[in-house]
Parts: sequence; C-alpha cells; structure tokens
Amino acid sequence: MDTATNQKHDSQPYYVAVNDEEKIFTAAFNQGLSILLKGPTGCGKTRFVEAMAHKLRRPLVTVSCHDDLTTADLVGRFLLNGGKTEWVDGPLTKAVREGAICYLDEVVEARKDTTVVLHPLADYRRQLPLERLGITLDAAPGFCLVVSYNPGYQSVLKDLKDSTRQRMVAIEFDFPAPEVEERILAVEAGISAADAAKLVRFAQAIRRLENAGLREVASTRVLIAAGLLMREGLSAAVAAKTAIAGPLSDDAQVTKGLIKMIEVYL
Ligand code: ADP
Repeated sequence: MDTATNQKHDSQPYYVAVNDEEKIFTAAFNQGLSILLKGPTGCGKTRFVEAMAHKLRRPLVTVSCHDDLTTADLVGRFLLNGGKTEWVDGPLTKAVREGAICYLDEVVEARKDTTVVLHPLADYRRQLPLERLGITLDAAPGFCLVVSYNPGYQSVLKDLKDSTRQRMVAIEFDFPAPEVEERILAVEAGISAADAAKLVRFAQAIRRLENAGLREVASTRVLIAAGLLMREGLSAAVAAKTAIAGPLSDDAQVTKGLIKMIEVYL
C-alpha cells in the first residue's frame, strides 16, 4: 500500500522539544497507552514521532490516512499469488506483530468503520482481531498506537468518535515559540539566523490574523520551504510569495493581502 512506510533511522532525527512532550510520550509508551497528537498541520508532529521512535529504539510504521482507507488497507487482505490466495499483513498488523510504533497520520480522514478496529488495540486489551483469519493477535511488547489529527479545520462530523478518543492520552502541539522556530528554520533550511527571524516574524503576523479567509496559517513546514528557496538565492519576498502565500490561498483578495504583508515584513 503506497500510504504506508516503514522507517528506520540510523541517526537521531533532528527534533527540538517544545514542551514536555518527550517526557509524556515516554511515560505513555512505557505504560502501553495509546497517544493522540493534536495540532495544526506542519507543526512537527510527524518529526516528533520519528524522533521518539528512534529514542525508544522501536521501528516506526507510518500510515497517511485518507477517506478511501479501508480496514483491509490497515489490517491486511487475501491476495492472489501465482494461482494461490495468500494472506498479506497490512501495516497495522505488521506493527502489532513486530512491536513497532504505528503512526496513523490524520486519522480523522479515515472512514469511521476503519477506526473501530483500533478500539481493542487502543485500550488495555492491546489486541487486534483479524476477522478474515479468525484469530486475535496480542500486540507484541513495544507496540504503540499513535494517531494525529488537526482539530482546527476538521468538520464536527469528522471529529473522532468519543469512544476512540477516550482510549488515548492526548498531547497538544502548536507552532514553536519564535526563538525555537527560528533555530529550527536555520538548521532545516540552512539559512542565516537573521533570515530565519524575518520569516518567523512574517509567519507570526499571519498567525495573528483572524477571519482572513485562510484554512491554514503559515506552518513551520512552509517556512522551511521558503528558507530553502532563499538558500538557492531567491529574495525573501519571492520565496515567501511562492512557498507561503501561494500554497495558503487561491483567493485573489486574500493573496493580495498576503503580498502586502510580504512587502511590509520581508
Ligand atoms: P506535521 O506532522 O505536524 O504536519 P511535520 O512533523 O511534518 O508536521 O513538520 C514539518 C517540518 O517542520 C518537519 O519536517 C521539520 O523540518 C520541521 N519541524 C517542525 N517542528 C520541529 C521541531 N520541534 N524540531 C525540528 N523540526 C521541526
């Protein structure tokens, strides 16, 4: 399945702790609890899970959820192989068997019936029923279910079911404080501290806007993209226009407003 990846990092992924999230994650992991990461897109949730998997020495299986994702995509299915049907584990089953951290990114995108399979896994039972095989797997030691979602732009309908969320501990994420975000930007994009500071000031101004017609504000991810363009020699204004203003909105009026802000801040 193209939405799942198995990752093993040789070196510790670069992650700057913003709060006490590392301590909380480690405690929840040690106690076999499932973890819900809440926060806007592009604020560092995925990088955090990668860093924690490395720290805790667990393999990481990541699944990007989408509205076509079925239970079989997660759990596995019978496939035809040379005239024979063979069971092939899905990413969740693999993670359960090998005691990996299974990260379901943007879990609310998945269909409701898909998340039902997570219930017995997420609570004290730590079990995955494989109905098609007529067996129930006990999660291997080290298995940890981590899901992320963005509470900001999800419709109420798509909110996680209470019965799912009450089985998890929640860690709240937001964009890092300006001085931390500047540091991240300088490292990740390889730009000067002064350029990083300029981009962060601009992002802060966008994040302060209310009712500006933006579905998302400028994330750390888009700032890094702008920084990478600057590293290639583009001016801060051009980089911000293409990597920040462009992706954030298609509305001509909103884009005009953002470009005015670029003229002021960059
Ligand atoms: P999310 O999963 O929340 O959408 P990501 O983890 O993909 O966001 O973050 C986007 C990028 O921002 C990362 O690839 C990383 O370069 C950078 N980033 C964000 N927060 C941090 C952090 N605290 N430490 C290091 N890098 C960070």
